Amino acid sequence: MMAARVTAGAAFILIAGTGSIIATGKHMTPPTAGSAISIRGLTKRYPGATKPAVDAVDLEISPGEFIVLLGPSGCGKTTLLKMINRIYEPTSGSITIDGVNVQSLNAPDLRRHIGYVIQQSGLFPHMKVAANVGVVPNLLKWDAQRTRQRVEELLDLVGLPAENYANRYPAQLSGGEQQRVGLARALAAEPPTMLMDEPFGALDAITRTRLQDELIRIHGQISQTVLFVTHDIEEAVRLADRIVIMRDGGIVQVDTPLAIFSAPADRFVSDLIGANDILRRLSLMPASIAMEPLNGLPPEADMTIASEAFLREALAKLVESGRPYLTVTDDRGEAIGTLSMMSIQRAAAPPESSDVT
Ligand code: ADP
Repeated sequence: MMAARVTAGAAFILIAGTGSIIATGKHMTPPTAGSAISIRGLTKRYPGATKPAVDAVDLEISPGEFIVLLGPSGCGKTTLLKMINRIYEPTSGSITIDGVNVQSLNAPDLRRHIGYVIQQSGLFPHMKVAANVGVVPNLLKWDAQRTRQRVEELLDLVGLPAENYANRYPAQLSGGEQQRVGLARALAAEPPTMLMDEPFGALDAITRTRLQDELIRIHGQISQTVLFVTHDIEEAVRLADRIVIMRDGGIVQVDTPLAIFSAPADRFVSDLIGANDILRRLSLMPASIAMEPLNGLPPEADMTIASEAFLREALAKLVESGRPYLTVTDDRGEAIGTLSMMSIQRAAAPPESSDVT
């Protein structure tokens, strides 16, 4: 229902084959997914630097993917992100969005059509919340009523009801609330691409988890393509469809969180993600991976676990209940297998090291 409200009447952006950006009118069908982004041989060498900050990066991103750039401080994550909305210009290589080279576009226009959220929310301190969220619609010359309606929808979407928040100044908000407003502002014109640079990095753990949940929910509704920078592995695992692991300006591994945990490319990746952290691995593996056949054991209806639930939850249930096994159920609730402490242990054994260093 929220998705219908958010998209109804909203403008959206097409990057046309001509290389120009066109804000379409409210009567056209809104996009169902974000942009495809193609990065080829992308290199950034800062003046005077001995080596490139981003070094010959290739990356193909599908529409609607949630990509997390993960790596230690200084590995080039922010530089890579800022070349996508042309805050920085590449030394060489190319970025195309839906087939259009961003270099062929007018940079301020491009930025209006790519959502951007940073750690310090970047809100204008002298403008009230509603005005901050309405910045891009105003630049795009939406009429006042449409902007007001959109601002209310967005504040609702990020959990800040307009009646309580629209007329406050940023200084009258908590850090978490400011980040929510920053997110609402970035989403205002429904950009098909969102760039997020450690947006929750300065928040306490509880607020951060809550905002991650909100972001997952919002992404589920709007399906933009998201590039999200973090150095926090837990955050990467919670959010990512695919994690891009960077080191010294290059990409070391790109894959789903589970695949990376199952087969880290090298010792660097293994250490970075804590591949030997068994609870973390159990948080990534669905029950179906460790399931054993029913083997005639009577299903215990009161001790079931869904096949897509994570093994960490299954382990908690086993420990709490003291039962020898759980019954695994499919999406119709039918018993399809069993899980025991032994089967979980087997599935969660540390990955074979493919270490080459
Ligand atoms: P990360 O986001 O992974 O922490 P950055 O992209 O910020 O990494 O930085 C990558 C490298 O480029 C670092 O060595 C950093 O010192 C350097 N760098 C970043 N921004 C600039 C800049 N504006 N001018 C010169 N060097 C920079």
